[in-house]
Amino acid sequence: MNERYSRQILFREIGREGQQKLLDSRVLIVGCGALGASHAEMLSRAGVGRLRIVDRDFVEFTNLQRQTLFKEQDAEQRLPKAAAAKKRVAEINSEVVVEEIVADVNNSNVESLISDCDLIIDGTDNFLVRYLVNDACVKNNKTWIYGAAVSSYGTTMTVIPGSTPCLRCIFEDMPDAGSSPTCDTSGVIMPIISSISAVQVTEAIKLLIGDIDSLHRSLMQIDIWSNDWHRIKLTEPNSDCVCCGQHKYEFLDAEAREFSAVLCGRNAVQIAPPRPTELDLASFASRLNSSMPVKQNEYLVRFDIDGQEVTVFRDARAIIKGTDDIAAARSIYARFIGT
Ligand SMILES: [Zn+2]
Repeated sequence: MNERYSRQILFREIGREGQQKLLDSRVLIVGCGALGASHAEMLSRAGVGRLRIVDRDFVEFTNLQRQTLFKEQDAEQRLPKAAAAKKRVAEINSEVVVEEIVADVNNSNVESLISDCDLIIDGTDNFLVRYLVNDACVKNNKTWIYGAAVSSYGTTMTVIPGSTPCLRCIFEDMPDAGSSPTCDTSGVIMPIISSISAVQVTEAIKLLIGDIDSLHRSLMQIDIWSNDWHRIKLTEPNSDCVCCGQHKYEFLDAEAREFSAVLCGRNAVQIAPPRPTELDLASFASRLNSSMPVKQNEYLVRFDIDGQEVTVFRDARAIIKGTDDIAAARSIYARFIGT
């Protein structure tokens, strides 16, 4: 076995056998922002053999303060985060196979994204995706590790369907829009990202090597600025829980997909196509090019219109930056991409 892992193998709880299990594992990282970038770095250094990284966004300069995997060049090139993560992981540990998926996680793709993974780790920044992941994981009996961080505060717990409470056992309903702090309204400092992702990745390693007895079995809450560390012990799942008790998967089964969303911390709106589709980026760019300057790379096309920056991805999603007005963003989408 590669000497790269010698110090980790010396750690008795992992050993040679545990290392082999890590090498043979596949983990899905849902969202490659601050938490996800940190997961990708730690899991690849630890030698988790396969990482599937899904993220809908591209790297910006405001990310660099806390998203450790990314560089200025990634922001200049507007690389999708999943693609930039793949590039960086290849430099860190070329033995790790990274599958980069530039897409929005929604109810049409979440079950196939988790299907052949040993574990799912939450790096997303929004509750809708977390409830969707919770539904999909409970339904398909997959373990996932919830994590969230904003300001100097973060929280995490590990969900093992049938054995521990699920996300909806603890937080029955999604918080109302505008009711909780976001990175946009309250900011965020990097040390809380490092703390929460460290707990999540440690749980991931324990799970992948089968050391179930060492899991923390709690809702862990950390405020790294005010020095408050809390653990609320978790016991049995709630038998009345809509999701894991009654097996109603309301987020997974939702008819109406959310086609548009104001993005956290971005002064930007994402518009998704009503049906999954693939855009021929080269011909789209050449159509636009006749009327305006267009920038492109293999993942996206970008142009400016009325003081707003429009980025269109291969899956026909667009991020319109410079507004948080969904109607205005939808009208730009309709003009240039179609409905
Ligand atoms: Zn539950």
